[in-house]
Amino acid sequence: MKKFEYLVPKSLDEAISLHESHGDRAKYIAGGTDVMVKIKEGKMAPDYLISLKHVLNKDHVFLKQENGELRVSALATHRMIENSSLVVTQYSILHDAVKNIGSVQIRNVATIGGNLVNAVPSADGAIPLIALDAKVSILGTKGRRSMDLVRFFLGPGQCDLEHGEILTEITIPPLLPRTGSAYVKHGRREAMELPMLGVGVLISLDENLKTCVKARVCLGVAAPTPFRAMIAEEFLEGKVINEEILAEAGKIAGKESRVRDSIRGVAWYRREMVAVLVKRMGLKALERIEQQSN
Ligand SMILES: Cc1cc2nc3c(=O)[nH]c(=O)nc-3n(C[C@H](O)[C@H](O)[C@H](O)COP(=O)(O)OP(=O)(O)OC[C@H]3O[C@@H](n4cnc5c(N)ncnc54)[C@H](O)[C@@H]3O)c2cc1C
Repeated sequence: MKKFEYLVPKSLDEAISLHESHGDRAKYIAGGTDVMVKIKEGKMAPDYLISLKHVLNKDHVFLKQENGELRVSALATHRMIENSSLVVTQYSILHDAVKNIGSVQIRNVATIGGNLVNAVPSADGAIPLIALDAKVSILGTKGRRSMDLVRFFLGPGQCDLEHGEILTEITIPPLLPRTGSAYVKHGRREAMELPMLGVGVLISLDENLKTCVKARVCLGVAAPTPFRAMIAEEFLEGKVINEEILAEAGKIAGKESRVRDSIRGVAWYRREMVAVLVKRMGLKALERIEQQSN
């Protein structure tokens, strides 16, 4: 393995200026579960690793809800998110996703920010956060900016971060009342394997608990970037929701996805599974709304 120098800045500003001075020879590291694998495999060879683990002051909050908006630090580990009672009770889709990332050991160190910046089409953290209309905050030498997470992904392994920028926070706007959501990772096994598909559905119902007022249908490994099936979403919105309608939305999502053949599964099978899993996750989201209102 190539040797590198490990730098431990004590603030975000120091991290950014270290990155600035070392240029392309430097790489940020958070939990290291992606970076270290790539270095070992020779896919990445930085001279400097700049740790983000100590840039936070003692008052840093990893997960907080304010006026209905959920703020999650990019440096929150998957395990912190999984163990948050707020996430368990209100953001089921996110809980469904993070609880099956890797193993407990991986989730104890791997961060949600690292998962998003890594930007693989199978990133389990991305799909639920897109379904929740999350925004990301970014800090760099030119200051702070924010954008919708769905626009952050540019291609496989590529995200909209300029040289030296740090992803600092993810914010989720308040949920509509009567919202339910669910995520499933489909593969040969749920843990310790790249999924063949990731499917997340979020549904908000009207006061009569019948008509869909908002729908999100989000797919992983179904396109070069995490993907919103917007035709399926439009189809659902305004309709009285039942199993048949969800099955139809699933078929629409399958058609609009851009699945392809790979060693983990062929395109036609993936498309069929999008249809099956959108319906299944839609029904689970409805079940969860019913549980809330009981
Ligand atoms: C055994 C194993 C199993 C895994 N299973 C899964 C799985 O089931 N699902 C899944 O989605 N992933 C899985 N992964 C991948 C990985 O664990 C996740 O993507 C993880 O969330 C990455 O976070 P990290 O903090 O370890 O990132 P790091 O490895 O530290 O960094 C990843 C990338 O992001 C950059 N980076 C990190 N944080 C920031 C930041 N705040 N701002 C700017 N750049 C940053 C780094 O420079 C690097 O390019 C697995 C990995 C392993 C080794």
